[in-house]
Amino acid sequence: MSDARAMLATPSPSLSPKGGEEREGCVVAADPVTIRTTCPYCGVGCGIVATPDGRGGAEIAGDKAHPANSGRLCSKGAALGETLSLEDRLLHPEVDGRRVSWDVALDAVANGFRDVIAEHGPDAVAFYVSGQLLTEDYYAANKLIKGFLGTANIDTNSRLCMASSVAGHKRAFGSDTVPGLYEDFELADLVVLVGSNLAWCHPVLFQRLEAAKRARPGMNVVVIDPRRTDTCEIADLHLALRPGSDVALFNGLLAELHRRGVTAKSYVDQYTTGLEEALMAARASDLAQCDLPAADVATFVEWFARAEKTVTLYSQGVNQSSAGVDKVNAIINCHLLTGRIGQPGMGPFSITGQPNAMGGREVGALSNTLAAHMDFTLEDVDRVGRFWQAVRMAKRPGLKAVELFDAVKAGRIKAVWIMATNPVASLPDADAVRAALKACELSIVSEAVRATDTVDACRIRLPALAWAEKDGTVTNSERGISRQRPFLPAPGEARQDWWIVAEVARRLGFGEAFAWTGVADIFREHAALSAFENDGRRDFDIGAYATTDEAAYDKLSPFVWPARAGVAQGGRFFADGGFFHGDRRARFIATAPRAPMHAPGEDRPLRLNTGRVRDQWHTMTRTGKSARLAGHRPEPLVELHSNDARARGLGNGDIAEVSSTWGRAVLKVHVTEALRVGEAFAPMHWTAQVSRAGAINAAVNPAVDPISGQPELKHTPVEIRRLDMHWHGTILARRPVMLPEITYWARARGAGYHAYMIAGEQPLGVAQRALSAAVRATNPGPWLKGESGVGAVIADGRLEAVLVLSPGHDERARDRLAPFMAMDRLSVEDRSVLLLGGDAGDGESERGGEICACFGVSTAAVTAAIAKGATSLAALGAVTRAGTNCGSCRPELRALLRAARLERAA
Ligand code: SF4
Repeated sequence: MSDARAMLATPSPSLSPKGGEEREGCVVAADPVTIRTTCPYCGVGCGIVATPDGRGGAEIAGDKAHPANSGRLCSKGAALGETLSLEDRLLHPEVDGRRVSWDVALDAVANGFRDVIAEHGPDAVAFYVSGQLLTEDYYAANKLIKGFLGTANIDTNSRLCMASSVAGHKRAFGSDTVPGLYEDFELADLVVLVGSNLAWCHPVLFQRLEAAKRARPGMNVVVIDPRRTDTCEIADLHLALRPGSDVALFNGLLAELHRRGVTAKSYVDQYTTGLEEALMAARASDLAQCDLPAADVATFVEWFARAEKTVTLYSQGVNQSSAGVDKVNAIINCHLLTGRIGQPGMGPFSITGQPNAMGGREVGALSNTLAAHMDFTLEDVDRVGRFWQAVRMAKRPGLKAVELFDAVKAGRIKAVWIMATNPVASLPDADAVRAALKACELSIVSEAVRATDTVDACRIRLPALAWAEKDGTVTNSERGISRQRPFLPAPGEARQDWWIVAEVARRLGFGEAFAWTGVADIFREHAALSAFENDGRRDFDIGAYATTDEAAYDKLSPFVWPARAGVAQGGRFFADGGFFHGDRRARFIATAPRAPMHAPGEDRPLRLNTGRVRDQWHTMTRTGKSARLAGHRPEPLVELHSNDARARGLGNGDIAEVSSTWGRAVLKVHVTEALRVGEAFAPMHWTAQVSRAGAINAAVNPAVDPISGQPELKHTPVEIRRLDMHWHGTILARRPVMLPEITYWARARGAGYHAYMIAGEQPLGVAQRALSAAVRATNPGPWLKGESGVGAVIADGRLEAVLVLSPGHDERARDRLAPFMAMDRLSVEDRSVLLLGGDAGDGESERGGEICACFGVSTAAVTAAIAKGATSLAALGAVTRAGTNCGSCRPELRALLRAARLERAA
């Protein structure tokens, strides 16, 4: 038993209930024990120190000793303590909507799989797993399906995030190897960020880069992205290329570097093959496709040619494309040509979205890979089969995510088990995924959260542990393996995923191969497999940990692989060749630019790009619980250029339908100059749980890269049309409201209440009656009617709920009304201000949205400080505190400072 578990195993005799969120097993310790663990969000993999408060919560701080973050956390990581409540948790197994015992649920799963396989064969079953799983959970699931059920129909949601990088690495290096380390960003003279909004999606790495650039102003940063994102705030050059033209740009770079003689000849001669073919393809490319100013391209080429220490980081903007693998290889080609790989401050660097996407790659949770970075070659299948003593080894790759759910839809897959992910919201053509699951004979989901779009669609629901309760390891984007340790007890009947998998395996008769007593057992097996018959011909080897005992596993410090037994561990790959193709040489890959699969046309002339916002994570099941994270972008939105907005009669705050061949979403309009004309951007976080029709993936096309199978989430032809709302409104309510059928709603978390932003097409009076009835149904008490569409429930002097409706936009209603929800008791004067619409006339309600999540600083407060003379981040921090904690808002603060400077100069 781990130290942490020993601490948590202390029984709790009595607990004081608090909002139904109490956890059994929590004890208020005299001396709080701190636990070192890892952030569950992005691929940076920051270390966290958690100090449980004994009541089910915990203080969260950055781990100063963790090499990824040295104590830093972004807004999401810093708010983790607000996401630990048991509200919304799935705590008991369910079959067909009925609570059942674990035995009943596990028997149903095992019998279901047994029957389907007996009747239809192993390829009629599938698992869809997740970068949220810990490596040990991942390992167990992969072993069961590939070694014992006899199919490789297991894919991970990391397919949506970095499968193109995996395929690109394998083509170039012969292995899925990230050659470099995070410190290379700090050591480089040129950092090129391609298709990455690092400031929002990997904020701590962005902060490290920002600090390095501050320390060495000579470092150049180039951002290659069709959008002007906050990452551009530290860019010396922004190349807003035409979407999808990355291959043309890097081909142009390759040809020009070669023409100028910036070729590392001895490296190329000794360690690579295929340069001539790659050059021929590169020379045939036309840089004009990129639609970039020639002078900017020349500057980029010049900087790349001059800076030996160059790192090129790439992310979803490269990967999520039907030409994603070619884009990856076009980038890698430039690093191979210049020999800038595997040395301090040099190399191509794929950064992953998910916290354990890399762990999934290590265990082989992609359907086309085997465990421990092995493949479906005869030798590898035989090797893994012998190691596992597999009963029924899969011999060929399985279906990739989009094909897998197509097969569910077509009825070829009759049993699917989803673990720790929400494909009904996150896959393209998402409504088709929902329909497929609902029609599937046996749909199973292992989940920590009670209400997700996917849980709603599945028959068997198995309660899984959440972040604070799970035990195991994760791997970050620099190959760093860290422990994730539990610091809260398991709630209800929830169990860790590996245990659930092992119990199903036991029921299927494979108990011996899954007889682990804890996660350390699985970690040892995983480490041993990585070293099994590995004579240095496989990159992934952590054999040094194959005999790690329980105590050492408990104390395991973060380490970077490779970690071969008896050899110094960590470091970079490929400085001196040593690639993993049979001849140990890297491959240049000839790449030809390819347009996105679906081009905009007359009916759908706009190109939809999807992505993320700063303070939310994936489908918001966790970050959505934090009130402070809801302040920055509280509603599902679509951004478009002012020219495109004008042409459609759209303005800020309007409600619009985004429609494609595949589906539609209804979103709030945000007009911006940060996009190219003809493009639109929508974040992917909103689901049916928190919005009427905010799930943008319903409209996203299901095209995939032909090699990696990664969906093209960033190029869907759409049209956007204005929906004429007769009214807009806001509800703040202490208890959830069952809204009547209205055109638009989005729900966000407030401090002790739920906030609903609403709009509709029915007459205002009709809406007023229906909505006030809905509010009062769950928030009982005297209903007071105020002026101009205001109604409120005030019970015992406290505001329980308030509804405000108006014929036009009222973007500030939430800010105006929130202070009244914070009051224990409303005075007579407070009531009259509230019933007049909440404007106290003190300017406090003119917040203009929140910019700093840590201290709740509004855009208005920052703008006021700038108007009063603050001209630097330090000055803004001193006046408002904005940007002085996690630093996630600093790029936006910079943007406001820059805008003010430009305005003064004009
Ligand atoms: Fe978590 Fe933020 Fe670190 Fe990513 S950058 S691991 S989200 S704290």
